[in-house]
Amino acid sequence: MPGWSVQVDRTRCLGCGVCAAYAPGSFTQDDEGLAVLCDPPADPVEQVRTAVDSCPTGALSLAITDIATDDREG
Ligand code: SF4
Repeated sequence: MPGWSVQVDRTRCLGCGVCAAYAPGSFTQDDEGLAVLCDPPADPVEQVRTAVDSCPTGALSLAITDIATDDREG
């Protein structure tokens, strides 16, 4: 388990694909283009953070649950 989790609010997703471009091991898109989380996510937390910060609608949220893991990977 990574020391973090990420959520996607698909009601706010525009299907732009930015998250999947920045963190392709953690996000993909469904047939409608909406973001879908990969399980488990396979990118370093900083890469996921970049994807979350780059979402134009704020549909993604990152929660750090293990500070030590965040420090190690970040
Ligand atoms: S970056 Fe945001 S709006 Fe774009 S596909 Fe990902 S979740 Fe949806």
